[in-house]
Amino acid sequence: MRRLAVSLAGLTAVAIAVSGFAPGPSAAEPPAPVDAGPSYYSFKLPVGVTVADLVRDGYDITHGHASRPTLVATPAEVDQLRDRGVVVGKTGSVYQPVVRATSDAAGTTYYGGYHTAAGHEQHNAAVTAAHPALVKLYDIGDSWKKAKGQGGHDIQALCITKRTTGDCALDSTGQKPKLVLHSQIHAREIATGEIAYRWIDLLVTSYGKDPEITSLLDTRELWVIPIANPDGVDVVASNPDEPVLQRKNLDNARGGCPVSDAGVDLNRNSSFQWNVREGEPCDETYPGTMAMSEPETVAVQGLLDKIFRDTKGGVTEPAAAGTTGIFLTLHSFGNDILAPYAYTGTAAPDRAALVALGKKMGALNGYPVSTGGGGVGYLAPGTTDDWLYGTRGVPSYTFEIGPDSGSCGGFFPAYSCFSNTLWPAQKPALLYAARAAGAPYGKLP
Ligand SMILES: [Zn+2]
Repeated sequence: MRRLAVSLAGLTAVAIAVSGFAPGPSAAEPPAPVDAGPSYYSFKLPVGVTVADLVRDGYDITHGHASRPTLVATPAEVDQLRDRGVVVGKTGSVYQPVVRATSDAAGTTYYGGYHTAAGHEQHNAAVTAAHPALVKLYDIGDSWKKAKGQGGHDIQALCITKRTTGDCALDSTGQKPKLVLHSQIHAREIATGEIAYRWIDLLVTSYGKDPEITSLLDTRELWVIPIANPDGVDVVASNPDEPVLQRKNLDNARGGCPVSDAGVDLNRNSSFQWNVREGEPCDETYPGTMAMSEPETVAVQGLLDKIFRDTKGGVTEPAAAGTTGIFLTLHSFGNDILAPYAYTGTAAPDRAALVALGKKMGALNGYPVSTGGGGVGYLAPGTTDDWLYGTRGVPSYTFEIGPDSGSCGGFFPAYSCFSNTLWPAQKPALLYAARAAGAPYGKLP
């Protein structure tokens, strides 16, 4: 949300009329029902105004897909943009009608079934207790609030495998290739944590029953970081019917930002190609005061640093022969697979192999593969996947889950859509990635 606008918290008390599509701006349209909340918009800029200008002015522009950047704005913000000559057309509503789940009342779910950070933690503990031979649970570090003694959370990671001696060690001596699934680093991208939750359940309940999954657990370490930004998820879930659009962590040390605009973008905070020019403290892509300034980044990067061998040369050198493992970081939205590099339009040294593997996964979830800043139309320095590929050579991908809008799209898809379409679409791609992790640069399965 634009930082000069009324904070979202102030708006949530207003009844939001959930409308369907209202395509195209038209001065002749009858007055819409009162709807002070945010919606998704496509936009066309007048000559002399760039997307970067609007981002600098605090507008929330999200790059779901290269050709279709999406504006998330309130009607007041839309009026301001129209005054500047921007042509703005509503493409969809941020919020979908909610069918409340009984677990919502207990605080373990929100928005009809999505799990809160506490819900994930209960789940992680429960599956670890129920499947001790398959699951090892790690506390890999603290959230920003926990590091500051303000409550907060541990960042949790699970290693799922049929454990034998040496498996799931916090070093790179393990013999089984690793797939790491990393979710909800951007708190408002709520389908991503839920995919991790279902993935965990699928793996632990299928061992010994499903031959393919049994074989995967016998031969792979399947690591999951279900919630990389739990403080942010607390904010998102604080309004269970109309989740808050919090993207970043809650580091408000460089204060003065309204609700949902504070924090550091953890996906611009890695120690690879970190770039101070990514934004001001209230911007959605604020990279922090320095690379790895945030405890959440330290936790995730610290884990990956331990479990993957450091065999790659410099930025422009290809991955070492025999590199194993795959890293998937889940985001929303755009129905895309993005392969490194994100920080530059220059092709990654392993571009052809990264695209080939990406296309195999894309054939299963229906997503096209784009590479790098050149491929997606914007540059993103300091991302988690660039860091892991750039320093370790592990094939690393961003999945942009879900369409740009509609009841199954955007940041907050209806939970029924999650169960009926979003999760079923990703499941085969994740299983494929687990298989391919054995020789991701070799002959692909
Ligand atoms: Zn994201």
